[in-house]
Amino acid sequence: MSFERTQEKLKILADAAKYDVSCSSSGSQRTNKNKGLGDATGMGICHSYTEDGRCVSLLKILLTNYCIFDCAYCVTRKSNDIKRAAFKVQEVVDLTINFYRRNYIEGLFLSSGIFKSADYTMERLVAVAKKLRLEENFNGYIHLKSIPGASDELMREAGLYADRLSVNIEIPTASGLKKLAPDKKREDFIKPMVKVKNEIIQYKSEKKIIKNTPKYAPAGQSTQMIIGASGENDFQIMQTSNHFYNTYNLKRVYYSGYVPISYDDRLPQIGSAVPMMRENRLYQTDWLMRFYGFDVSEILNAKHQHLDLDVDPKLSWALRNLHEFPVDVNTADKRMLARIPGLGMKSVYKILNARRFRRLNWEHLKKIGIALNRAQYFMLCDSNQFERRDLSPEKIKGLILQNSTSKYRNTLSNQLSLFG
Ligand code: SF4
Repeated sequence: MSFERTQEKLKILADAAKYDVSCSSSGSQRTNKNKGLGDATGMGICHSYTEDGRCVSLLKILLTNYCIFDCAYCVTRKSNDIKRAAFKVQEVVDLTINFYRRNYIEGLFLSSGIFKSADYTMERLVAVAKKLRLEENFNGYIHLKSIPGASDELMREAGLYADRLSVNIEIPTASGLKKLAPDKKREDFIKPMVKVKNEIIQYKSEKKIIKNTPKYAPAGQSTQMIIGASGENDFQIMQTSNHFYNTYNLKRVYYSGYVPISYDDRLPQIGSAVPMMRENRLYQTDWLMRFYGFDVSEILNAKHQHLDLDVDPKLSWALRNLHEFPVDVNTADKRMLARIPGLGMKSVYKILNARRFRRLNWEHLKKIGIALNRAQYFMLCDSNQFERRDLSPEKIKGLILQNSTSKYRNTLSNQLSLFG
């Protein structure tokens, strides 16, 4: 294979992979053994940031962009007239090793269109990971996409070589999937997810008894949903997300705003892309569910089906629930402290720690680094009474937005003038 042809394939298949955002690699504990190559411990997202703020890079490619399916929202769909290419298993292995040696990457994110069948494709993805681990002694991070409908046996093998597995559910509801991807069935996504979940549990419990039991998908499994292609509201999206977290022990759900790319009556028109802010609000809601003790129904429900774009979901919830405030920072439990707008979990722990030694007033809070611009409207401390209890939700929101440095503030300036 000539260098030019490999380069061309790489260009096509790296470009085709950019639509998949489910490539976080945080959470892996695979360490470098036997003087092998790489070390995946604590790695993160492809050309992006880990949860601890570090930027890492993964070689993110498709094995092929040939596909037997015709999902309306996908550039790789068979009816789309694009340049196609396919890597051989050994080519991906060689590229990964070469890029790793040159220090370009710290791991591999490998996905694929479906050629011939789910198992035929999955077999090749697994073969890449297996060769990297067993023949190249590669200990860097590997994230494999699971092909919907792949057999249990291949899924079991995949988890023995990959750090993370993901199967993208793509469209948040079964009805939306049927409309846009009639070749696919919801069960085809669920089956590999169930298999991976069960294998993770089983391998973990075996490891407690037999120390040298190998690790199975140590960074867990994740999924991705495309937002805005099939008309689901935020309530439906986050309900689906919540269901997948709870039922399949997912590590992450990724939300990817649909970018209209084709003329199709079933899809939003070209030029009507999902606002970045909507994606951002979904991630914030996801965070509140996973780390701040919120139930999804508190943030989104039949009455409140859309996330506010002008304020974050925690502030939005607080403004709708002012009867829960003010919260006394000297006596409140962790759960309520975490609900104060503007307080992150780090601040919550700082408060819990500091108040063991004294009752906290505004000065103490500032000294320990608590940002009060939002929080002040929702908390009590030792120095004075809660001065703003008579403010309406609209007034509080106006004051907060007025003092906000958000890049989105300008777009809200008309609203702000109402609260001046
Ligand atoms: S199966 Fe995957 S790659 Fe193929 S068209 Fe559907 S979304 Fe695209």
